Amino acid sequence: MISALMPTYARADIAFDHGEGAWLWSTDGRRFLDFGAGIATSSLGHAHPGLVGAIAAQAGRVIHVSNLYRVPQAERLAARLVENSFADSVFFCNSGAEANEGLVKLMRRAMARTGHPERTRVICFEGAFHGRTLAMLSATGNEKYLDGFGPPVDGFDHVPLNNLNAVRDAIGPLTAGILVEPVQGEGGIRRAEPDFLRGLRAACDEFGLLLGMDEVQTGIGRCGALFAHELCGVTPDVMSAAKGIAGGFPMGAILATEAVAKHLTAGSHGTTFGGSPLAAAAANAVLDVVLADGFIAEITATAAFLRAGLERLVTEYLDIFNDARGLGLLVGLKCLVPNSEMQAAAMAEGLLTVAAGDNVLRLAPPLIVRQAECAVAIEMLAHAAARCRARLAAVA
Ligand SMILES: *Cc1c(COP(=O)(O)O)cnc(C)c1O
Repeated sequence: MISALMPTYARADIAFDHGEGAWLWSTDGRRFLDFGAGIATSSLGHAHPGLVGAIAAQAGRVIHVSNLYRVPQAERLAARLVENSFADSVFFCNSGAEANEGLVKLMRRAMARTGHPERTRVICFEGAFHGRTLAMLSATGNEKYLDGFGPPVDGFDHVPLNNLNAVRDAIGPLTAGILVEPVQGEGGIRRAEPDFLRGLRAACDEFGLLLGMDEVQTGIGRCGALFAHELCGVTPDVMSAAKGIAGGFPMGAILATEAVAKHLTAGSHGTTFGGSPLAAAAANAVLDVVLADGFIAEITATAAFLRAGLERLVTEYLDIFNDARGLGLLVGLKCLVPNSEMQAAAMAEGLLTVAAGDNVLRLAPPLIVRQAECAVAIEMLAHAAARCRARLAAVA
């Protein structure tokens, strides 16, 4: 018989009772170091007093009013994002997929309202992940996710990542823009090279296209800058954010320059829940931490420490791992054993991780993680790798 909860996930047989910082306690009393952070989302870890306090205080006043009225918490959040990014204006929604849908709508609308209604196509990349709505399945382009869901939504062209010639060849009279993740998260922690991103910017400028960045996973401090694109000096025209933006409370956002954002006029796009007082209060509490003096520099230092440990693991367990990759606190170990096996072995050691494409084991700890906790995680990974090595030896 089918489970009451629709069986869309192959869940690990474990549930969590509570957490604190980078740690989680399961309902059966075990303690885990959370280097998955709910898929790069619990940015302040668990039970962060600032976030908990902000949510509790706002919930006790008003949770939701709709966008028929002014929402001061959302106005403040938007102003802070504008002040700290390339963007001039922000639209709030509820998830990464919804943010990307809006981003593509915005690209099309901006083209239509500047004399190019025929420009509706978006160039995307092999290995991308943009979400699970019908259109974002097409933007993602992964056959496995599209299977059984009927004709893919038209309007997305896929080319290999980091191949500028392929991008330039794919640009045609119907192209509206390009959508790229600075680091492909689900796709296996694959970085878009800085030179490649600069080349995309140049191509967009040359052909009058819009550059869209999907920073749903890379944004809000994760990679060692508020947004990862800042690290290579490339500015998009429009960007999506979500995952870590409200520390685990559901929220997405579209950030855009005025030249683009002005085309989403009143009535052209909307959301019932997006940018509620509660969601905005949570996101403001996250920004209180992430924008505090020195916090992002601390992420960079912690990330360097973690990365060095991962590089050591690769050299010590060449039969288990063959690459450490990523940016900031979004990192991965390319595995030579199935990544699901490594993930299970890490969990047996008390470390939560997330599998990613390309047989990569993904580590995305909360941004508040300490170096000492990274040292513990590396130790646990070493034990997990030794466990996998012993199994390989037993099989041979
Ligand atoms: C997770 C993710 C999405 C989808 O976000 P949802 O909130 O699950 O809809 C889109 N793009 C990227 C890069 C992501 O990592």
